[in-house]
Amino acid sequence: MRVGIPRESVAGERRVALVPETIRRLGDGIEVVVEAGAGEAAAFADESYRQADASIGSPWDADVVAKVAAPTADEASRLREGQVLIGFLQPLTDHEGIERLARAGVHGFALESIPRITRAQPMDALSSQATVSGYKAALLAADRLPRFFPMLMTAAGTIPPAKVLVLGAGVAGLQAVATARRLGAVVSAFDVRPAVAEQVESLGATFLDLGVRGEETSGGYAQELTAEQQSAQREALQDRIPEFDAVITTAAIPGRQAPKLVTAAAVRGMRHGSVIVDLAAETGGNCELTEPGAEIERDGVTIVGLTNLPSTMPTHASQLLSRNIASLLELIVAEGAVALDWDDEIVAGACVTRKEVAA
Ligand code: NAD
Repeated sequence: MRVGIPRESVAGERRVALVPETIRRLGDGIEVVVEAGAGEAAAFADESYRQADASIGSPWDADVVAKVAAPTADEASRLREGQVLIGFLQPLTDHEGIERLARAGVHGFALESIPRITRAQPMDALSSQATVSGYKAALLAADRLPRFFPMLMTAAGTIPPAKVLVLGAGVAGLQAVATARRLGAVVSAFDVRPAVAEQVESLGATFLDLGVRGEETSGGYAQELTAEQQSAQREALQDRIPEFDAVITTAAIPGRQAPKLVTAAAVRGMRHGSVIVDLAAETGGNCELTEPGAEIERDGVTIVGLTNLPSTMPTHASQLLSRNIASLLELIVAEGAVALDWDDEIVAGACVTRKEVAA
């Protein structure tokens, strides 16, 4: 059985779906063919793939094609009926792309759709990549802030620590909290899921009480707030945000536009030199003023709306993603052949386009 690894074609995508280290650990009977230069941007040379017994060639004819970003129309046209495709296929937002794969009869496995159950944790690519984003968000905030994060006691006097607020304390948010804490900032965090308060506190941060509480779905995600709750949250935040030097926002509802938490008025209330890092930029941003893909300055506040942060740390982001994909491969390959068990909750949940086989 062959697994093909294409070179990513989307601008700015530097990750690769499988790295040599993982390929070495794949079970017997799995051959890997990697497109020339596929790992280059993530610092994995073709030679390192050869040393892991992968071959360099066209990945598109393989039984399973594993990639990072959803295929472009051109790439999708190279896939054939019955082939398995693994990647971030954006099943909730890229309807056209999903339609295309369904028409082609491809078994599309969306990494986003892997159920977040305990057994699927090693395959949880959303979490692994969110960990990278959260870490990088804290570094960006520290870098863009014209102040120190830690408290410093020097001969020239004492510098107070920076105050950082993290909005949305899921996987990315908690990693941002932990990273900002390690850099010495005084950190507060807020999430609509009350269960998160304890996790925030265990990282040495303070849970900000905004008087707004949301519900959690059975999948562990936040339920979208009502219009009244959202406006109460924005108002409460508007009062509190000026206290902070840096605000890192990560709030998301799967398949929806990002909730708007930070208003233009709240930005105006911040001190000059303050920073907002908006991890939700890709889905419209948690801050009203965020420009997705750009870094801007408004009213003396730097607003970082860079997208695809995992791609800015492509080596480790790819390494983690690669382990997630290898775990999924383990589940869908048996004795050197693709074997899809539709009764398996993970297989059925992750497969977003499926060639219907008559019973
Ligand atoms: P996400 O990226 O969808 O959302 C990020 C955070 O934004 C969430 O914590 C959400 O509650 C929060 N949020 C949504 N609306 C908000 C608002 N208006 N204001 C403030 N915060 C808001 O979520 P995620 O990080 O991918 O994960 C969410 C949950 O899933 C977490 O509880 C996580 O622990 C859980 N999870 C479980 C497993 C598992 O295997 N059991 C694996 C990974 C994650």
